[in-house]
Amino acid sequence: MSRPRDFRLNDGTVIDHLPVGTAARALELLGLPREGPITVGINVPSPSVGRKDIVRVEGLFLEKPELDRLALLGQQITVSIVRDGSVSDKTVLDVPERLMGILTCSNPTCITHTEEVDTVFFKQDGFPYRFKCAYCERVTSLDDVQE
Ligand SMILES: [Zn+2]
Repeated sequence: MSRPRDFRLNDGTVIDHLPVGTAARALELLGLPREGPITVGINVPSPSVGRKDIVRVEGLFLEKPELDRLALLGQQITVSIVRDGSVSDKTVLDVPERLMGILTCSNPTCITHTEEVDTVFFKQDGFPYRFKCAYCERVTSLDDVQE
């Protein structure tokens, strides 16, 4: 099956298998658009996951903290790096058991709001992901991701 011509990247990143409805959130988390053109597919049929969102960004290469934020959106998100029109690297994102400096604690009296400390959260079981603050034990969700 051939892909529409306008969906091809020359050099950039494809963020695939996003859960349906999370493409906009992914763009927001990554502070996109920046420079290059972006194609967004929403509710795209997928043989492996049924339906998915997909984002293709020309000229974008993500850093580790950005990948860690993205990983929070879904369980099988795939990030492919495209160089010279073909995929040079493909990774399925994984959420670490311990997150540092990515989430903000939703408890207004938590020490992380008043002291100069990195937030630390532990991943809880299940999906959508939830995380427990190491300082005050408040359980927090994706809405509290720092942007
Ligand atoms: Zn806290």
